[in-house]
Amino acid sequence: MTGSDPVKRYSAASLFTEGFRGHTGWERAWRHPDPKPAYDVVIVGAGGHGLATAYYLDKEHGITNVAVVEKGWLGGGNTGRNTTVVRSNYLYPESAALYEKALQLYEGLSKDLNYNIMLSQRGMLEVAHSRHELEACAYWANAMRLNGIDSEVLTRDEVIALVPGINAGPGARYPVCGGYIQRRGGIARHDAVAWGYARAADARGVDIIQNCEVTGFRRDGAGTLVGVETTRGFIGAKKVALAVAGHSSVMAERAGFRLPVKSYALQAMVTEPVKPMLDTVVMSLATGVYMSQSDKGELVIGGGLDLYGSYAQRGNFPTIEKVVASAIELIPAIGRLKLMRTWAGIVDVTHDSSPIIDRAPVQGVYVNCGWGTGGFKAIPVGGYTLAHLLARDEPHPLAVPFSLRRFESGRLIDEAAASGIPH
Ligand SMILES: Cc1cc2nc3c(=O)[nH]c(=O)nc-3n(C[C@H](O)[C@H](O)[C@H](O)COP(=O)(O)OP(=O)(O)OC[C@H]3O[C@@H](n4cnc5c(N)ncnc54)[C@H](O)[C@@H]3O)c2cc1C
Repeated sequence: MTGSDPVKRYSAASLFTEGFRGHTGWERAWRHPDPKPAYDVVIVGAGGHGLATAYYLDKEHGITNVAVVEKGWLGGGNTGRNTTVVRSNYLYPESAALYEKALQLYEGLSKDLNYNIMLSQRGMLEVAHSRHELEACAYWANAMRLNGIDSEVLTRDEVIALVPGINAGPGARYPVCGGYIQRRGGIARHDAVAWGYARAADARGVDIIQNCEVTGFRRDGAGTLVGVETTRGFIGAKKVALAVAGHSSVMAERAGFRLPVKSYALQAMVTEPVKPMLDTVVMSLATGVYMSQSDKGELVIGGGLDLYGSYAQRGNFPTIEKVVASAIELIPAIGRLKLMRTWAGIVDVTHDSSPIIDRAPVQGVYVNCGWGTGGFKAIPVGGYTLAHLLARDEPHPLAVPFSLRRFESGRLIDEAAASGIPH
């Protein structure tokens, strides 16, 4: 079945028919199977990365005897909590290649999954508030071009035209000096990415097992991995892949190794919906605040990490206050909007703000983690490269630089600036 598309397609006539019978005849988008006794591969975590891995395991490598095991509900982790920004404006060639492959996969994903992920390439604009930041923008945009990725340096007037209402007056605390834009950047619907991969993986025979926490790993007398202990009993597995984001170090400890990952809360928030006022994603370099407008009209606002490590998935009030103050500084008119909701996810941050896609230092376990504040944009490539590693037992060329060995050799890929993680 490698390469074919087993997802059921509905005709326009079936939509018409269902309209008349109260929409009672649609099939479920994915099954709710009980775990089988054993699988070739068990993937822990039904976020975007875990689900995409399962999908590409069959699509690219013909491996279908796969389970994705999720302690909550699929897409209920960071994949359903993020601010949905996609872009490939990273600095170093290794990261540029990885994130650009992700963006290219996103560009074809609605068709590939036969599921509208609502990709909107409305541009990702970074605003420079000083001459020094503008120089950094030029350096950054030129590095992107050298890596074959689209970018344009913008003048102050071009930024003002793109963001009506931006605080560019003489009294602005952070003056607008220009910026740069990646026009192919933008947003995609986060739930749809999880649901699209889940439906497509399910149609290919992958078992997605929700409400099932992996609590431990079982090995035979020779130390060979034989499966995982879960809250729904033992599940046999030849290989286990961890795609659990903010809980990567917890799972690594259960598997008997350590990861150079720290977990932090990252918060986001939305305002009440308003008429269209912002048709790009805008980020202020000086403050780290960024925002876009959802299709519903809400302004979706994000900022930096909470200041200390935590697994408490709610976040701190001072961070909300700081992000809101920065957002109002950027576009003062939004100060009159109501803030509707705030929420947090637990993200996994490495020393160099770059991901890890590698075999674990214990037999049979494979890791996809360290995406920190920026792994939504990487979901397709995270799944694609982890599937390659699981299927062939060797890293995909794009993933070679993102091994665990870099923390021993010192070949770090420091993307703190591009990832928006202030260390
Ligand atoms: C507020 C916020 C804003 C963000 N904004 C952006 C953005 O604009 N752009 C961007 O690119 N990235 C963004 N990110 C980062 C992005 O959301 C994550 O990097 C990405 O979603 C990680 O996907 P994942 O599949 O690895 O993890 P998750 O979606 O978190 O999935 C991991 C899953 O593992 C499950 N799990 C954990 N432990 C176990 C266990 N023991 N057994 C079974 N299951 C387990 C969890 O329940 C969870 O569902 C943001 C993150 C947050 C929190």
